[in-house]
Amino acid sequence: MSCIEITDVLRCINPATGELLGNVRITTPEEVHDAVARARRVFPEWAQSSFAERRRIILNVRQRILGQIEEIATLITMETGKPKVEALSCDIIPALEAITFFARKAERILKPQRIGLGKYHLLGRTSFLRFHPLGVIGIIAPWNFPLGIPLSQIVMALMAGNVVVLKPSEHTPLVGFLIGELFRTAGLPEGVLTLLQGDGSTGAALVEAGVDKIIFTGSVATGKKVAAAAARTLTPVILELGGKDPMIVLKDADLEAAASAAVWGAFCNSGQVCASVERCYVDETIADQFIAKVVEKTRRLRQGSPDDPDVDVGAMISEGQLRLVQQHVDEAVRRGAIVLCGGERNRAREGFFYQPTVLTDVDLEATLLREETFGPVLPIIPFRTEEEALRWANDSPYGLTASIWTKDIERAKKLAARIEAGTVMINECTYTYALAQTPWGGIKSSGIGITHSPLGLRELVRLEHVHINRFPRLKDFWWYGYSEEVYRLFIALARYFTSPSLIEKIRALPWLLRGLRLKKY
Ligand code: NDP
Repeated sequence: MSCIEITDVLRCINPATGELLGNVRITTPEEVHDAVARARRVFPEWAQSSFAERRRIILNVRQRILGQIEEIATLITMETGKPKVEALSCDIIPALEAITFFARKAERILKPQRIGLGKYHLLGRTSFLRFHPLGVIGIIAPWNFPLGIPLSQIVMALMAGNVVVLKPSEHTPLVGFLIGELFRTAGLPEGVLTLLQGDGSTGAALVEAGVDKIIFTGSVATGKKVAAAAARTLTPVILELGGKDPMIVLKDADLEAAASAAVWGAFCNSGQVCASVERCYVDETIADQFIAKVVEKTRRLRQGSPDDPDVDVGAMISEGQLRLVQQHVDEAVRRGAIVLCGGERNRAREGFFYQPTVLTDVDLEATLLREETFGPVLPIIPFRTEEEALRWANDSPYGLTASIWTKDIERAKKLAARIEAGTVMINECTYTYALAQTPWGGIKSSGIGITHSPLGLRELVRLEHVHINRFPRLKDFWWYGYSEEVYRLFIALARYFTSPSLIEKIRALPWLLRGLRLKKY
């Protein structure tokens, strides 16, 4: 659903039909502040809840999703214009996977952890880490995966003992309401998850409301605003931002599989995926064959009503996004690009449908190869050498995901190490967000921090390092009572514990023994 704001309401429109779906009131900045204050009051009790209790509620959410899976798919399709299959494969399944993984693993990932102290154990010292919830987590979500993204982030935050204030995109408030309902009916205590409907100003108010961490998923431009606002209060942020993800097809790749992957990776969700294939670099010796396969597969795609389960490509989210994509394509054509298929709006349909588009001969400086193109567009560029492909792949401010296609896995692993991206897939593309076990996060302008995986969960806790001295009567060498002997003792200690020379260690020993007898105040 695309929602157009009229003063204090969002006017919601089905992007595939233009049908008005309803109006949703925008939360005022004062209400945002009140919501965060309320969440803060609820936090101490939720933080004390057991993992078993959190798990029980999260698994209830899973049951509720499974119980109404078709209705949920229909709602996502109605709001976003994506085909129902994608509502399931790209939104609902990733959400279920995240629930299953974090419900099962969070307790183990967050259990106290001993730190090896080596020789300090001899002095009766031990250290361990404990993980405490941070407090109120503000989640600001995009519209492209309105269930999968916020729900998995909420699950991580709650399992870690935090409370959450969620601001869904203004384009997908109905899925936002659904998320609130799923948790409420699953038995989540009131106030542990608060939903704030609204637009960018609501998101901005949430950032300024004094939460303990922000998880923002969206464009680079808005991410920078969020980071700047958060810096004023030193609020930590996780930023999951846009991508310009390259696909490199080497000459020994399975061309059939690579071509199918390029088509799905570029056009899934009408190309409105942060990790979609945005630039395809193919070895020039196989380029003609590869391009022919891609064009043939693209022409076979069925674009139409996303409600129809036999449709491959649905609508884009809004007229504005569609026009932006058209601008990128038009500019590339003006600079000499050749459109092999698509290249314009699908005028046979009412809503915001853009034809799956394949181009070649694209100028390397064209916006289409520099900026994120959030639409179903695939530029294919032949390369001469692996080094050239690598240079082009890395010549981008973005670094979210990348993919390499070859039968030679060892060669691909070496190449992957030189690609600047948070995730590099070999003979795969785009989909690893669905694997809650694996870390998700971009480098360069694609973001800061990680969600998913044990590493992502630990971004939502505060570390407490506890250090214990079990022999407090034994005074430390470094305490007061300094003298020439103490000075010599420290030189001996340095040599004994860090020198690689056995002779030096032996020479240091008498000083260590004398050190044991030193008197301290
Ligand atoms: P936007 O940046 O436009 O919006 C993201 C969220 O931020 C929305 O909820 C939006 O509200 C809100 N927002 C807008 N202005 C502000 C502000 N000043 N302060 C705080 N919040 C604000 O992104 P889109 O929703 O258009 O999503 C598409 C983008 O998200 C693409 O660039 C895509 O690559 C990226 N993305 C990244 C992912 C990743 O994991 N790296 C995953 C999915 C998407 P509202 O919508 O109401 O304006």
